[in-house]
Amino acid sequence: MSDPARFIDIQKVTKRFGSVTAVDAVDLQIARGEFFSLLGASGCGKTTLLRMLAGFESPTEGEILIDGQPMAAVAAHRRPTNMVFQSYAIFPHLNVGQNIAYGLRKERLPKLELKKRVDEALEMIKLSGYASRRADQLSGGQRQRVALARALIRRPKVLLLDEPLGALDKKLREEMQLELRQLQESLGITFVFVTHDQEEALTMSDRIAVMSAGNVLQVDDPHSLYERPSCAQVAAFIGSMNFLKGKVRGRENGHAVVEAEGLGTIRAEAVAGEFGEGAPILLAIRPEKLAITDSAERAPLDNYVGAIEGKIAAASYLGDRSHYYVTLPGVQRPLAVAAQNVDRETEGWLQSGAPVWLSWQPKGPILLPA
Ligand code: ATP
Repeated sequence: MSDPARFIDIQKVTKRFGSVTAVDAVDLQIARGEFFSLLGASGCGKTTLLRMLAGFESPTEGEILIDGQPMAAVAAHRRPTNMVFQSYAIFPHLNVGQNIAYGLRKERLPKLELKKRVDEALEMIKLSGYASRRADQLSGGQRQRVALARALIRRPKVLLLDEPLGALDKKLREEMQLELRQLQESLGITFVFVTHDQEEALTMSDRIAVMSAGNVLQVDDPHSLYERPSCAQVAAFIGSMNFLKGKVRGRENGHAVVEAEGLGTIRAEAVAGEFGEGAPILLAIRPEKLAITDSAERAPLDNYVGAIEGKIAAASYLGDRSHYYVTLPGVQRPLAVAAQNVDRETEGWLQSGAPVWLSWQPKGPILLPA
């Protein structure tokens, strides 16, 4: 049996299309039973990597092993993988049961066994009783579930999903995210999920590989990616982030002391390596780690530090929270602040142009390479 931590083992895989390097010497290990996402902007190479796992493309260089077996000489239909696409690719003229059974066409099962497997699959996707419904009479979400069942009925060891929820509206998409995650957990199959939507990746995945220009920038669990990004690109891609230029001034009690534009001399945590004294850095801070008040005296000193005066450049009310953009003296771009709207007394005073004070959680500011 292969090493469960290297159930899918991608070794220095490169894929070139003429002069375009779509995937550039990627090393990646995916564990057995993991929900793993490839996340990145359009064109970063995530679909190409997925297609190489499926066997629809072959690597220009490098090797892919699944469950300890080299895949180079294994054709797509003989691999322990199956793929679900964004466009549902189900047959509108067939009914739901026939569509799902299509996934087993090569196995020539006895009729009764086939029906049993289709019924199981229908139950799995919560469409029991829909076997004879025509596929073109289904909603988008139901169609995608049928496509999923058709891919799963062969009981693949690995399910590859290429933006499978991309065509659904936001609400349905969120429901399907939960359903997919529950399904994956109950089946214990390894899922490799491609998406450009960072929220979707955070919601569903055990681990995520963030890709850019054919490279993997960071592989981590959602919490670590958010709290400890390895570089500014990852920090900006996952959630929103404020960046300020700065320089390291020294160390104090395990923290770096930095001089950052707009904030002066402050303490910050180095999450991505160490930086020597004098090193230019980027100070990064998430909008929700900043607090905003209408006077220095009202700054929440128990959980926050600092109180720097600024001015509101723009404000937007979003119900449960408000977003503010605050200009600080000497800083070009306004800082984004996300404030929870729990304190109703403060309503109404945070308007564009108002003077405000910003404080931050002591562990909020982190250091990243400039
Ligand atoms: P998207 O989210 O838009 O699908 P992606 O991250 O999945 O993007 P890929 O589809 O893997 O990216 O493409 C990576 C790069 O490789 C792009 O520059 C793309 O134009 C190029 N590419 C992909 N497939 C081919 C092909 N068959 N021939 C030539 N170039 C290709």
